[in-house]
Amino acid sequence: MIAAGIDVGSVATKAALILNDNFYSVMVPTGWSPREAGQTALNQVLEQSGASARELKYVVGTGYGRVSLPFVSQTVTEIRCHARGASWLRPGSEIVLDVGGQDCKAIRTDCHGKVLDFVMNDKCAAGTGRFLQVIAAALGSDVSELSEQARGHKAISLNSMCAVFAETEVIGLLAAGVPPGEIVAGLHQSIARRLASMIQRLGPVEQLVFTGGVARNENLRETLENMLGMPVLAPSEGQMAGALGAALIARDMIVN
Ligand code: ADP
Repeated sequence: MIAAGIDVGSVATKAALILNDNFYSVMVPTGWSPREAGQTALNQVLEQSGASARELKYVVGTGYGRVSLPFVSQTVTEIRCHARGASWLRPGSEIVLDVGGQDCKAIRTDCHGKVLDFVMNDKCAAGTGRFLQVIAAALGSDVSELSEQARGHKAISLNSMCAVFAETEVIGLLAAGVPPGEIVAGLHQSIARRLASMIQRLGPVEQLVFTGGVARNENLRETLENMLGMPVLAPSEGQMAGALGAALIARDMIVN
């Protein structure tokens, strides 16, 4: 019984496959063609598992590019897939916080990963991975370096959360001689504040799971944890949560 999930994100396309209770997963850049990226990710995950395309019983597509996948059995919203995948990665988490390339969402779930409520920002780049990419570029670094850059630095207060204005502000601060570490620490503070207010809109919570590519930023995770005063868990497979959830939903479709 083979089920797969494909999450075509704005930055990265992820595929997860379930074969005899074993999970396989891959990630490829989305690039200019969501359709091609989806096909490549599916081919690679099939190859990794040793299964053939003919053996695939059900494929669920999710993510912003899900409509461009010709081979999926069904498409499912990102909210549902992320909730399901993240709850599977960290059972018992009441809220899933997913921060990807172009949106961020906080989802309250039940113990089976079913969506109870959610809040989402997909209207502007503020607080998303794209925002971090723009600022990293202005600092001459890569998003993967931001966590280390901020570590141990006091946070300078930033006025702008709009990606366009923040970039200008950062360039001005650099010109004024402010150390890049202080700017990144300040950036993490303002993003964490924004994420914390999204989470608080969903009511009280004791455990949170943080997913999406931005959850790989350890300093941001720690900043959010300190701000909320509760555990913020970021599983190593967190960026795969949407694809995993899609694969789990695909497996349900075969079983039921
Ligand atoms: P999408 O589903 O929209 O493609 P992802 O959940 O895959 O988004 O996250 C992509 C974002 O993750 C990028 O915009 C980037 O900011 C961030 N990211 C990717 N890799 C890293 C890393 N190693 N460290 C910190 N952030 C990262």
